Parts: sequence; structure tokens; C-alpha cells
Amino acid sequence: MKTAYYGSKMRNKKSTLSGNETIKHSRAYQFLKLAAMMGQRHSAKSQHRGTTTKTATKHYGRYGKYGKSHLERLEHLDALIVGGGINGAVTAMCLSSYGYKVALVEADDFAGGTSQASSNLIWGGIKYLENFEFMLVRKLSRSRNRLMQTYPSLVRELRFLMPHRRSDEHGLLKLYLGTWFYWMWGGFQTAKPRFHTRRSLKKTGFPLAMQYLTGGFEYSDAYLLENDARFVFNFIRRAEDLGAAVLNYTVLENIVYKPEKQSSATKTTSHAHWQANLYDKIAKKRLAVTAKIIINAAGPHIDAINKANQIRTTHHHVYSKGVHLIVNRLLPDRRALAFYANDGRLFFALPMGNRTCLGTTDTFVKKPAVRVTPADRKFILTNINKLLALPFPLTTKDIIAERCGVRPLVQEYRNAGSHETTAKDWFSLSRKHVIEGDAAKRYISIFGGKLTDCLNVGAEVYEQVHSWLSTQQATVSEGVATRLVVRKEKLKNGAEKTWFGEPSVAQREQFLSRAERLLPEKIASQLWVRYNHHAHLMLDRIEALWHKLTDQAPLPATYLEGQNIIKQHKLIIKAMLRALDERSSKNRHARAFKTLVNRKNHILTQRDFLMEWERLVAPVIVGSDVLMLEAEYVLKHEWVVSIEDFLRRRTMLALTTKKTELARSKNLILLRKILKKALKHP
Ligand SMILES: Cc1cc2nc3c(=O)[nH]c(=O)nc-3n(C[C@H](O)[C@H](O)[C@H](O)COP(=O)(O)OP(=O)(O)OC[C@H]3O[C@@H](n4cnc5c(N)ncnc54)[C@H](O)[C@@H]3O)c2cc1C
Repeated sequence: MKTAYYGSKMRNKKSTLSGNETIKHSRAYQFLKLAAMMGQRHSAKSQHRGTTTKTATKHYGRYGKYGKSHLERLEHLDALIVGGGINGAVTAMCLSSYGYKVALVEADDFAGGTSQASSNLIWGGIKYLENFEFMLVRKLSRSRNRLMQTYPSLVRELRFLMPHRRSDEHGLLKLYLGTWFYWMWGGFQTAKPRFHTRRSLKKTGFPLAMQYLTGGFEYSDAYLLENDARFVFNFIRRAEDLGAAVLNYTVLENIVYKPEKQSSATKTTSHAHWQANLYDKIAKKRLAVTAKIIINAAGPHIDAINKANQIRTTHHHVYSKGVHLIVNRLLPDRRALAFYANDGRLFFALPMGNRTCLGTTDTFVKKPAVRVTPADRKFILTNINKLLALPFPLTTKDIIAERCGVRPLVQEYRNAGSHETTAKDWFSLSRKHVIEGDAAKRYISIFGGKLTDCLNVGAEVYEQVHSWLSTQQATVSEGVATRLVVRKEKLKNGAEKTWFGEPSVAQREQFLSRAERLLPEKIASQLWVRYNHHAHLMLDRIEALWHKLTDQAPLPATYLEGQNIIKQHKLIIKAMLRALDERSSKNRHARAFKTLVNRKNHILTQRDFLMEWERLVAPVIVGSDVLMLEAEYVLKHEWVVSIEDFLRRRTMLALTTKKTELARSKNLILLRKILKKALKHP
């Protein structure tokens, strides 16, 4: 009876679709047939529709994959790193690569401090040539080159156009020759500079106010394609992959040094160590951990921590506030503009997703807590309006988002330990970093630095830690090479340095060939750029969904084939539901009616899978390049505590989308719910 009905139903189906040969002979049609069969076989199981796919992957929550106990388990740490900005993140990755037991605590969200407020440049620091800081430029250029080679997904070459105005302090030729020097001094690793006459400037595609210009030139540097905060987070992620315990929203309250103690009664020695008292702001819990070494990577807050814990150093920070404004796109794709602002300092218009980021200001401030003022906005808007010939000058209404932070600039105390600063002009202070270690207490402070310089910071801190903790040759932990590219570089003094990069090209290719069956090529490579091998989790999810909605059909050979199958699948589901409705309205026989209901339930479940598919491959915000698939992954696996963490630091959505648009987004309402649920069950 069942078989007869089934056959007649399929015949019916064919007749409904007669004339549409492609559908009749398509794989989707076969899948649906299979689906109907499965529905029949499992009708009892599929009584309840509305089953949604569950990701096969575990939800890690904010405690990482080792769970809440991870930090507690790592009680006797080799090093506790305070601060989850770029310096702390790279240090954590470096130390855990060598097998040290490390924990990193961040008072706010990862990259919640200065490391989310930069210009996103990975650069040799062309402007420091003005201060004749040749060695710094050399070092930064090398660091830039190394980052471009070891992190090619996120660190990309960027072409700058520098138009020259009559009022500029330096002549056009001098500046142009300067870029050649910069290029050569930087190791010839980027595209060569190029000169522009007034005429050729007009053809560059930049909307320049030509009346003030005498000519210009192009030069190259590099930038962070996906923003500084994502760059930092990926180091945090790698550190965790290699065994580090990482916790955001966990503040270091104080540290107590415990010198070596010998007990004559038990004849045991308790080695010197630090006790660090932490406060988890989310769990609202206090926690004490012990560590052989404390690494203070708290950026602008280093001095406050040192002072509170009576740590004396020979360096300290002074602060320079920097503001950026983000507006609608003003520049040709992936190109940047550099020019002298009216205060004589270099000013940039940089690509940020589908927007343009303008800045920066450079103002001396006494404290690290800063905010954008009307004067900052006026400075930035006046300067850009002067250079560009826009249909309407930019006003504060055009601002989509703002970024503001302080540069922690390192300065030496006049007398070691004294809190009196030198008279040196803060404006010309070097952007170098200083790693200051107290060997007696095993305490390290990381002063200054730049995102560009991060690999050097990690390597130098590691050298210091290694010299204190081990007399043996350093060895990279097993398993690191399978996850990251490990590069060895022989230095001039004969020493060997190790640099850790993103996963290898082969791993990338493997991911892409898997992803491109179900996702467009652009999205697939974007997932790799952002999440590296963790993006496999997202593929697991959509592959599982594909199998469900096609009743275990094999994956399509290409994305296009998959799209066609899904399109046809959708049509067939619609047609079958209509046919089933018609049949059930006519057939009142109890048993047959029940069979029809079962079948309909199965088709409805298929439709739910299809809807889930469509939801996951849709962007979070219309026009953005962040998929719901990614968003759900990020909320569950990237220590997100508030939606702000997701919008501002794991993605660039808060920077590239107007607040009103974010407030209207239905997808964001859904994501907030998912996050709330995830936080309830970490
Ligand atoms: C406007 C601007 C533009 C810049 N542009 C560039 C650029 O284009 N290229 C470049 O290379 N560099 C640039 N920089 C410099 C670069 O951004 C900084 O040098 C770098 O981000 C500093 O990183 P950090 O890890 O030292 O500090 P942070 O990123 O501030 O990290 C320190 C962290 O420590 C945490 N913390 C503080 N106290 C505690 C505590 N008690 N317990 C736990 N955690 C704590 C803080 O919350 C913070 O997140 C720019 C800086 C600014 C301000």
C-alpha cells in the first residue's frame, strides 16, 4: 500500500513538473526522492518537525577548549602575561610555542586597549626618517617584511599616493627621493616608488583638489587587511592552540613576590615565585595563580601596575592620543593616501573594509583614558576636506565610527626609578620598544612598541624567559610545525632566530579545495584569512547541513553545482508541499491521512534545513562580508562576552556600519539571543 502510494506520488510529482526536464533529471530531484523514502522509513522518528541541525562541534565558551579548569590547572605557571594587546598576545604565542606553561589575562576584551585603535599599518615608519631614526626605520622595515612573509593572509602590501602641495614643508623632489631611500633601506621588498606629474595625478582615480597640488608620488608599505584587533586575536588563538590559558575580562589585581624558602622541618625548598591575584569580571570570582615570571604587557597601564606593586624600572611611558574617523569610501579599492596635515605631520586616508579610515591626530595626554573631542573631529575633517575635491565637504554627519587610543611611548627616567621625566620633547620620542627585566625577581615590563614590531617583542621576551628558566638549548614544541610555519633566520652575529607564522600554504590550499564546493571562492578565502584552520569548524557545520538537507547526498563537485541543486531542491519542496496539501484535503481516510501527515512533516523538516542553510550563508548586515555562519562560530568559539566584542574586535562591523543600521538588524537580535544562551552554558 505504502509503496503504491509512494510510486503514485512520485508520478504525480513528475507530472506537476512536466516540461521542466532539468529538474526531473536533476540530482536534487533524486535527493528529494531519497528524502521521501527516508521519510517513509523514518516516519515515526520525524513526527516532530522543526528539528534544527546541531553543530557537531563543542561550544568552547570564554574559557577555551580546556574549560573553566584550565587556568586553575595551570597553577604553577612558568609565566603569567598581563595584558591581551599585541605585545601580550605575541608573547603568549611565542612562549607556548617553546612549551612554556603560560597564562594570559586581559582586563577587558582581547585587543580592547591601544591595539584596537591603531592605523592598521605594518610599516617601516617612513615618517621617522624626518627625525633621522634610520636604525628604527631599518628595524621596522625588516619587521614589516617578515610579517608580510609569515602572515601573508592578514598583512598585505598597500600602495600609497602622496600628493604634494605648494605649502608642504619639504619639496616634492626631496620627498620623492626620500621614498626611494625608504624603499632601498627597507630591503627592496615592496613595489618601487613612482613619480606623478600634475597630469598623471589626475588619472590615479583619487578625488584630489588639484588646484593646490604640484605633483606627487607613490610608494608602498603594508597594512592589516582585517583590522588590528583580529590580528591580535589570532595570536591569542594560536597561543591557546599551543596550550596557553587565555582569559579576557580578567584583571590582575595585585602580585606578591614569594622568595625562596627552606623548611628545616620538612627539608623541602619552596622556590621563589609570584602569587598573582586575579578577578574574573564575568564570573565575579577571585582567583590566585602562581608563576615563576610575571610579564607586564599592559601597554599604557604598565606604569600603574608597576607602581602599585613597587616594581622599579628605568623606563616609563608617556602618552600620545590618536584619533581616527571612519567615513564612506573615498578612495579607489585597496589604495591609500598620505599627505602632510596642517600641523606638518603625516596624515593618512586608509582602506578599512568597504570604508575609509582617516587620521590620525597626535596629542600629548597625561593619562591613558581618552575620548574623541570636537577638536579632534574638526582637525581630521578640515584636513581631508582641504585635500579632496568631494561633491560636498565631509561633516560630522558623515562619520560612521570613531577610533581613539593612546600610544604608549617609552622614555627613560632621568634617575633610575625616579618618577621625574626627562625634558625631551615627547613629540620626537622614538616609537621603539624596550624589554626591561628584573632578573632578581623575574619580572618583565614591555614598554612601547608597535604592531609592526610584534614578532621582535615576542622573540626578545622569549630569550629573556629562556635565559632565566632553562640552561638547555631552546626547542620548539612538538606539534607547532604542523600548525604554524616555523622560520629560522641566521642573524649577522651568527645567532639563530625563530619566527612563527600562520599555517602553511598547503594547509590553506587544502582548506580552499574543501570550502569551494559549498561557498563562493571569495568567501572561502576570506574565512581562511580570518580564522585559518579553525574555519574548518564552519565547514563541518555546513557540510553536515548539506548532508541533512540532501539526505546524505555527496558534496557537489563545484560551488555552482551546489547552488543549482539547492535552487532545484527549493522548487521541489515547494511543489511537493503543495501536492501533499491537495492530497490530504481530498483524502480523509485515517491511515492514509496519517501517512500524508508524516510525509509532510519530513518535507517540512527538509524545508527547515534549507532555511537554516539560507540563514547561515547570508551576511549579518546587508552589504557586509561577514556571514551568519561566521558570526555564530565567533560567538561560540572566540571568547565573546558582549556583542560589542563581536562587532568591534572579532569583526569590523561596528566600524563599517552605521549605528542606526546595526540597531535595525534582525540578524543582530538573533545573534544577541545566541550569545545570551551561550554565556549561560559556558
Ligand atoms: C592612534 C594610533 C595609531 C597607531 N598606529 C600604528 C600603526 O599603524 N602601526 C603600528 O605598528 N603601530 C601603531 N600604533 C601603535 C600600536 O597600536 C601600539 O604600540 C600597540 O597596540 C600597543 O600594544 P600593547 O599590547 O602594548 O598595549 P595594549 O593594546 O593597550 O594592551 C594592553 C592591555 O593590557 C590590559 N590591561 C591593563 N591593565 C591590566 C590588568 N591589571 N590586568 C589585565 N590586563 C590589563 C589592557 O586592558 C590592554 O588591553 C598606533 C597607536 C595609536 C594610538
